[in-house]
Amino acid sequence: MGKTRKALIVVDMLNDFIDENGPLFCGKEARAIVPFIGALIDEYRREGGLVVYLCDSHRKDDREFDRFPPHCVTGTRGAEVIPELAPSAGDTVIRKSRYSGFYGTDLEEVLEKNGVLEVGVVGVCTSICVMDTVGGLANRDYGITVYEGGVADFDPESARCAMARMRRVYGVRVVAS
Ligand code: ZN
Repeated sequence: MGKTRKALIVVDMLNDFIDENGPLFCGKEARAIVPFIGALIDEYRREGGLVVYLCDSHRKDDREFDRFPPHCVTGTRGAEVIPELAPSAGDTVIRKSRYSGFYGTDLEEVLEKNGVLEVGVVGVCTSICVMDTVGGLANRDYGITVYEGGVADFDPESARCAMARMRRVYGVRVVAS
């Protein structure tokens, strides 16, 4: 602790989104990013970076289910990280109930406590939880990298707009893979 660290935020790589039988399966694009994210997680761990898993976690009667089919109900298998990317000891798992990883969570404290200034972001969906979390990072002046090979969305047009917006409006560095 005390020294500057970078962090990788892994957004919603959970069974209900990434398993093809999940109620909100994000499509084969979302499965295709799994090996890239796995390698990136290993790299961050090897270099002493902090790996933070942001995990959607809803009550059974969550208002979000007015807009989306029920998913990631707290305590169910659907709300767990996919087995291929399972967290290790030393990683941080943060449950969230809204799109932004900052809403009602201790993400800000976790990043501060670990002296993080630079944050990489991967996961799903580019135009929803990834972009809203990136907005929260930008508001807090973090240096942000979004790995293009590590994000996916069920809606390609929204994803394109989101990438452009994150680059232009939030000053995100986009790394192609
Ligand atoms: Zn949700």
